[in-house]
Amino acid sequence: MSSFFSEKYKALTPYTPGEQPQERKYNKLNTNESPFPPSPYAQRLARQAAGDLQLYSDPEVRGLVEIACEKFGLEKEEILFTNGSDEILNFAFMAFCDENHPAAFADVTYGFYTVFAQVNNVPYVQIPLKDDFSIDVNDYIGIHKTIFIANPNAPTGIALSKEDIVKIVESNPNNVVVIDEAYVDFGGESCLDLIHSYKNLLVTQTFSKSRSMAGARLGFGAACKELIADLNTIKYSTNPYNINRMTMAAGIGALGDEEYFKNNCQAIIENRKYTEEELKKLGFEMTDSKTNFVFAKTAKMGGQDLYLALKERGILVRHFETERLKDYNRITIGSMEQMQELIDVLKELLK
Ligand code: PMP
Repeated sequence: MSSFFSEKYKALTPYTPGEQPQERKYNKLNTNESPFPPSPYAQRLARQAAGDLQLYSDPEVRGLVEIACEKFGLEKEEILFTNGSDEILNFAFMAFCDENHPAAFADVTYGFYTVFAQVNNVPYVQIPLKDDFSIDVNDYIGIHKTIFIANPNAPTGIALSKEDIVKIVESNPNNVVVIDEAYVDFGGESCLDLIHSYKNLLVTQTFSKSRSMAGARLGFGAACKELIADLNTIKYSTNPYNINRMTMAAGIGALGDEEYFKNNCQAIIENRKYTEEELKKLGFEMTDSKTNFVFAKTAKMGGQDLYLALKERGILVRHFETERLKDYNRITIGSMEQMQELIDVLKELLK
């Protein structure tokens, strides 16, 4: 740390992204990316857009907003695109949390929430999940805090029902409730349509997982016009050109290729089912995942040992070192070949 670093950030513990190794080709099941490339149509549009990179991108991302509004049944003032959904989540902490509106989220959830709270100097509470890693909805009823819920949750994969979300949103009318739907396309129930009924609901989604665009950085938030206007104030005060031309073009292509998207989601769901069945045969225990990953442990080997043994054999999964999670590994669902390789290696390891 230099002597110039601002006092206000000295105690900050930044987010640790999953490993992105460059030195060796792994069977990479650690960062919940899609095993499939972006839609060919999205790739073509992105290549075309590369020819115009001398020009700033459109701060209003108009072409993309138009097709997204059509697809998701929104008006253009009800959506804001960002540089990954991480950016809209950070904007939400900036816009809707302060001393009088502390943040609240689960103790086991997306690790960036604590970092966003800290970097924005926002007080926060972490609400423990139940022993089975599910959310107790009663813990969120009328709590007078700005609530962040990943639905389905990560790294547990467990989803809350729409009725439960409605209970939480209705019981906290004076606070914003943010539903982070990064993984919703793999079996969760989206709350996007509820933004027309609730003025305090912000739903975020990403193109990183189900639309195979993690490297392009594209996410969005949907909410009533007033909330989106607030988030736009933050955007135009930080980075008006947050969506670059190639990403915007790829986003239009991704939304324009619904069949490719649907087939890929279906493939992941099928590969998840195969993986769960095989892991069960090998003695693993898992949560009920509605995502593109499983959260699994086995009594036969500790979580960290398993992570290391797999890594040595060329398979990367995500291990968390906290007391509550250390027995588990989060394993991304990849292609059938990737999952078969994982199962073969596990059979060998655990025999
Ligand atoms: N929410 C959750 C729950 C996530 O796991 C992630 C991805 N790590 C994100 C949001 C952010 O994803 P992105 O910025 O790539 O859209």
